[in-house]
Amino acid sequence: MEILPTRKERKTLMKKYKIITYGCLANYSDSERIEKKLKDKGYLASENPDLVIINICSIRQSAVDRAFAQAKKYKKVIVTGCLLDSDRDKFAKYAKIVKKEDCLKTKITHSCLVPIMTGCNNFCSYCVVPYTRGREYSRPQEEVIKETKSFIKNGAKEIWLLGQNVNSYKYDFPKLLKNINSIPGDFWIRFLSSHPKDMSRELIKSVKELPKVTEYINLAVQSGDNEILKKMNRKYTIEEYKKLALKIKKEIPNVCLSTDVIVGFPGETKNAFKNTLKLFKEIEFDMAYISKYSPRPGTLASKMDNQISFEEKTKRYNELNDLLKKISLKRNKQLVGQNTRVLINKNSIGKTREYKTIKVEGASDNSFVDVEITKALIWGLEGKIK
Ligand code: SF4
Repeated sequence: MEILPTRKERKTLMKKYKIITYGCLANYSDSERIEKKLKDKGYLASENPDLVIINICSIRQSAVDRAFAQAKKYKKVIVTGCLLDSDRDKFAKYAKIVKKEDCLKTKITHSCLVPIMTGCNNFCSYCVVPYTRGREYSRPQEEVIKETKSFIKNGAKEIWLLGQNVNSYKYDFPKLLKNINSIPGDFWIRFLSSHPKDMSRELIKSVKELPKVTEYINLAVQSGDNEILKKMNRKYTIEEYKKLALKIKKEIPNVCLSTDVIVGFPGETKNAFKNTLKLFKEIEFDMAYISKYSPRPGTLASKMDNQISFEEKTKRYNELNDLLKKISLKRNKQLVGQNTRVLINKNSIGKTREYKTIKVEGASDNSFVDVEITKALIWGLEGKIK
């Protein structure tokens, strides 16, 4: 007997959606949750969608511009995420704007994103997050652990604990790591993003000693110059940052240290930029997410004098990126011949514990493999199954 669809099913039957995300891991985490809700309601993913959801963070102008171009392309568009009021008004002509819904269940993949806190109290002078996401809010430990346990039970192999400022988690972040580490199962724990001012001795010890916590730390520096750090309201000096970065490298010898940096902040002189180059040479970051400063409406920095021209920002970006390439290749070469464990994502590409991208021919998707590193590339590695 043929079973006819119910009235509710007919309503959504063949409705197709597409989700477009521009932003950080927190936006991707939110998109996963939105996708789960749409699928639960019977929607199908499609490149010819009836409904497009754009999940965006106003933190970069380039992201806003790309999202705006997408919003104009489709008929039915919903825009969500961390939007500045000025961007909200711009999108309102083409899309329905909704506030991000706090839904806490997501689909299970081998890599699961678990937001543990959101918002920020730091008010860096260039950043919109405290205005768009609001002040810091931390989820209770029990709730985070319960969600993590269910992911692991359903096959997750990697848990990303996320927060704008993950290490300022209100309910004792090292303790949370310890509790998640003690959940039975074969999985890795990663976390993002860390503010240098909240990088405690206890947290470094957790990364060093807890076997499931991987040796990858992203520690945003933003500038190598004290004057600029002060104007950015970053609340540390470059000497303090260096001391901390070197301590991490000493305590955790195989750590992969990455950073975020902005070039061309208002008033960044050639000398100030040189200090950033100097910092890169001294610390030898494995990876850096470099961005050209882009003024965000409503922030203090957007009203500062001495804005740097686009050409000059591009020049500084290229110079720093060239230096990073050299350092990254040098660091990767030091790993050739070593044995490592890799979590393969798909198409033989995976990540090492230290979050280095690695190609391993013949490895199955969504699996852990033991690998010998055979080749160093600028942005990654190659290896063979042992
Ligand atoms: S700490 Fe990060 S999220 Fe918070 S204001 Fe500064 S840059 Fe923005």
